[in-house]
Amino acid sequence: MALTLRVTGDRWRAHLREVAGNNPGLVPVVKGNGYGFGIGRLARRVSWLGVDTVAVGSYEEVPELTSRFDGDVLVMTPWRPYRTSVPYGRRVVHTLGRVDDLRELSSRHPGSRVVVEGLTAMSRHGLTRPELAAAAGALGDLRLEGFALHLPMTGDRLGQTELWCTALQDSLLRTHTVFVSHLGAFELTTMCERWPALRMRPRIGTELWLGDRAALHAVATVIDAHRVSRGERVGYRQRAMPRDGTLLVVAGGTAHGIGLEAPTAATSLRARAIALARGGLDAAGFALSPYSVAGRQRWFAEPPHMQVSLLFLPRGVQVPPIGTEIDVDVRLTTTTFDAVHIL
Ligand SMILES: *Cc1c(COP(=O)(O)O)cnc(C)c1O
Repeated sequence: MALTLRVTGDRWRAHLREVAGNNPGLVPVVKGNGYGFGIGRLARRVSWLGVDTVAVGSYEEVPELTSRFDGDVLVMTPWRPYRTSVPYGRRVVHTLGRVDDLRELSSRHPGSRVVVEGLTAMSRHGLTRPELAAAAGALGDLRLEGFALHLPMTGDRLGQTELWCTALQDSLLRTHTVFVSHLGAFELTTMCERWPALRMRPRIGTELWLGDRAALHAVATVIDAHRVSRGERVGYRQRAMPRDGTLLVVAGGTAHGIGLEAPTAATSLRARAIALARGGLDAAGFALSPYSVAGRQRWFAEPPHMQVSLLFLPRGVQVPPIGTEIDVDVRLTTTTFDAVHIL
């Protein structure tokens, strides 16, 4: 009984090599649910890719990397003085986004390795350009490993990056390394050409691990099947079935992240009216599930449970045998699989 990610290994590895080849200085991002693979599994690939640094989202994730990879671990969430249980090992590189924090870290843990972040239009973390001079003065005994920029997905990203690189050059921050997040391929190439003295290091997660979607195949085991007739009540909520058909019990529930995707069921009154005219089950308040049977996405018979989901198959649809697997189209950054098979 499992929700499984099946990976076509050769194809996936070829894609990883290609992204690494196209992005000199690549810093793979390994964080959160490990992009569906799990952090540990990706941590082992990072050594295989031959990179010297990996970026994690949080301090809590650092030990998962340091135990499996012998390079540096850059933590992208900024260091703050109130943080507890921060690992201060030689291989940890901290991100700093406030002048006061630089001063504080320097006095508490002199010699720590840091990256200073600039506040882009993302408006998440970082120093403003006028603060760079003060940052240089606050570094004290910290070891500056680079500068970092996190760009939004749209807008004039090249212009913003250039503004920051100019400010960096004019500041007293002595570094030639710029870690960039979400800079497009064109912008990255242009930056490398125009700023040959800087070493641009792209931090990439999704495009690296999930960029070749055809190499990744999510499936769920069919656990049980029950014939139901129209009007028969099933599940926790005892909902009446809309027609005769089959109730399919499949692996995958809220614990795996099933049902956490943007809702696809019609929510507005207008959308419901359209659905009603079409005769769709969404008019009756049913939600479309990410599971497919016989080439079509099927309806949840009720909201997903913790580890299993109930699907309604109308009569006439070929019922998949118990123990076989059906396709499930999930977002890999929000799904936790029971098993990952790299073939
Ligand atoms: C998550 C994250 C990334 C990687 O994002 P992807 O879209 O997965 O490539 C890069 N930089 C920062 C700061 C992040 O938080």
